[in-house]
Amino acid sequence: MSRPQQITVLGATGSIGLSTLDVIARHPERYQVFALTGFTRLSELFALCVRHVPQFAVVPQVEAARGLQDDLRAAGLPTRVLVGEEGLCQVASAPEVDAVMAAIVGAAGLRPTLAAVEAGKKILLANKEALVMSGALFMQAVRKSGSVLLPIDSEHNAIFQCMPQDFARGLSSVGVRRILLTASGGPFRQTPMAELEHVSPDQACAHPNWSMGRKISVDSASMMNKGLELIEACWLFDAKPSQVEVVIHPQSVIHSLVDYVDGSVLAQLGNPDMRTPIANALAWPERIDSGVAPLDLFAIARLDFEAPDEERFPCLRLARQAAEAGDSAPAMLNAANEVAVAAFLDGRVRYLEIASIIEDVLSREPVVALDDLDSVFTADAKARTLAEQWLSRHSR
Ligand code: NAD
Ligand code: MG
Repeated sequence: MSRPQQITVLGATGSIGLSTLDVIARHPERYQVFALTGFTRLSELFALCVRHVPQFAVVPQVEAARGLQDDLRAAGLPTRVLVGEEGLCQVASAPEVDAVMAAIVGAAGLRPTLAAVEAGKKILLANKEALVMSGALFMQAVRKSGSVLLPIDSEHNAIFQCMPQDFARGLSSVGVRRILLTASGGPFRQTPMAELEHVSPDQACAHPNWSMGRKISVDSASMMNKGLELIEACWLFDAKPSQVEVVIHPQSVIHSLVDYVDGSVLAQLGNPDMRTPIANALAWPERIDSGVAPLDLFAIARLDFEAPDEERFPCLRLARQAAEAGDSAPAMLNAANEVAVAAFLDGRVRYLEIASIIEDVLSREPVVALDDLDSVFTADAKARTLAEQWLSRHSR
């Protein structure tokens, strides 16, 4: 094989970032870390730099950059520290880079991920919020630059694996009837409705099958995660919202399915460990070891399925409505959700109020077309302001 591929990991200190580095470290002959980025936990970023010796590290502020640069120099490392969004965009689009893992959480990942797309990089997309916010523009940029877009979200990676290799446009063109998007149902699938009023952030983050960052853990508990994934699937696979059905599958062994017109249903199975989709996307179209244990079907013994209850999970209904409304609705939904989840994690609102905030925000603004990135960020900012206004009206 020729030289190792140079990889930038945006959001290296997070759950997906660390799993990515675990897979990369198993294959030093194939992959080399070009840049690592972190927003908080900068001592962990330093330790990751020592372990992976990237050419660049990116942190949010000048002060933090100075501190990290001094520590790196003292440790004899050549890593150069860059700052802020400009630094993120620089390491995402640098000419030396082959692939970018987009694993920043939330809207903050959009600009650097788009910078990687525009530079024609191979994109390993974990940052679903970026695609939800700007779907049409994002996919347009992918087509224009010829960048290869590989889904990291386990469901979308599963769907990707179950789709024909030459898939380009429209589900019906390849005989697909619908996509079955599986969901675990999260920690509150069976919690009595009356108790949902009082659940804590720690309870919401205690996912039964997956270990993830706190924002996506809350999204999984509310099933907003599945709503965002529905929108993500529509963009990635050129599907209509009505062609994506959500199926609750509590064991998280089947990661999603594709239903073909001849009655064939293809599924991808595996242990719930993000290193599988990460390794799949990193090596695609080849296969590499991910460190994930083989699936033990006898230990699992059974697979269950149920329909989602939209009364229990109103966020799923709101996301489907936003998917159908299109234009600015998904960006507004995403931004309102980010504010609401942050407020819930800070103890400022109750769990059930997350959906109330999002519904309120969406009801106050008409849906508008998003013609460019500025209009995306305007819709995002508008929704954040409206969500903040809800918080001030209801401050306790
Ligand atoms: P996390 O909270 O563990 O990590 C987030 C990373 O983003 C960290 O490195 C953090 O420093 C960085 N970050 C946060 N705010 C930032 C900002 N304003 N600017 C720059 N960097 C910032 O989150 P995670 O669980 O790793 O999830 C990352 C993304 O992957 C999310 O979009 C999530 O929806 C998606 N995803 C995660 C999983 C999972 O299993 N964890 C599965 C599927 C998809
Ligand atoms: Mg997922």
